[in-house]
Amino acid sequence: MDLSRFPRRRYSAAPTPIDPAPRFSAALAATCPGGRGPEVWIKRDDMLGLFPGGNKTRKLEFLAGEALAQGADTLITCGAPQSNHCRITLAAAVREGLRCRFIIEERVPGSYSPTASGNNFMFRLLGVDAITVVPAGSDMLAAMQQEAAQVRAAGGRPYIIPGGGSNAVGGLGYVACAQELQQQFFDSGQRFDRVVVGSGSSGTHGGLLAGFLGNRIDIPILGIGVSRDPPDQEPLVHREAQAVADLLDVGLHIPREAVRSVGGYWRPKYSVPNPMMVEAVQMLARTEAILLDPVYTGKIMAGLIGLARAGELAPGERVLFLHTGGLPSLHAYEEVVLGG
Ligand SMILES: *Cc1c(COP(=O)(O)O)cnc(C)c1O
Repeated sequence: MDLSRFPRRRYSAAPTPIDPAPRFSAALAATCPGGRGPEVWIKRDDMLGLFPGGNKTRKLEFLAGEALAQGADTLITCGAPQSNHCRITLAAAVREGLRCRFIIEERVPGSYSPTASGNNFMFRLLGVDAITVVPAGSDMLAAMQQEAAQVRAAGGRPYIIPGGGSNAVGGLGYVACAQELQQQFFDSGQRFDRVVVGSGSSGTHGGLLAGFLGNRIDIPILGIGVSRDPPDQEPLVHREAQAVADLLDVGLHIPREAVRSVGGYWRPKYSVPNPMMVEAVQMLARTEAILLDPVYTGKIMAGLIGLARAGELAPGERVLFLHTGGLPSLHAYEEVVLGG
């Protein structure tokens, strides 16, 4: 699939590594039936640029590329109070000399504090131009359009980026990741049986799926829901994957069955900790010195661990876990992840 006709900015120096996780795999196997578990490898998208980078970095390469091509001078986006996406959008704006504004949705009532640590601290350090806080369930697109109208009234040129950067343009970042993986598999001669990814606003899962199918990479992708169970999550991912394929205009049909996700691990609620997340964060930190975050990757890894223990990831199966970043929010949950 030819991505070269889309405007793109580069925020990472090189492909992210695929690291083995032998000590983690051994610790996991010891807790699986018969003492055998999957062989886990990690695609280090937590090492992407716009430090500390993550999956939003790949999406922003194409979103900022389009914003600049359209002559925008202000990025407007939205997210939760500890949004990695807002922080990385702001970082891209700073690098490009653009202004940046957020609409923050208080999904957990009372959870926004302007003096909170983690990503929130970085919003202020990187110099966000304006933050508007709205209650859970607000129409975020309408709120961003209102913000854009204000920017226009003041003579600015706004560019709206949807939550998580998950539209067709943002999803191109994960088509690029699929192509990067294909090249890495080819260069190293490695084969994987499955890829495990987080599934939230769906640009990562959907973009990667479009990239795998379009490039005929025959490895199943399993999404771990971070905010929804499969009946709600899978149609979202399917729509995103098809929108990305349509933008690429390669006549690719995304079969509904290609979208697979598991639920449960995100409960009790998006961004609210659970004991499985704490175990996953501690386990990877203490076996591989790789840090996960409490909102996303901790719960996604908890899903991988749970599936391995349930025998749904076969013993000896080679599993590639996509580490999507999120480091700063670890600092907003220090007591929780040390597990009292
Ligand atoms: C946003 C995010 C996700 C979820 O990715 P989507 O593309 O929104 O589905 C996963 N992990 C981290 C660290 C994130 O910031």
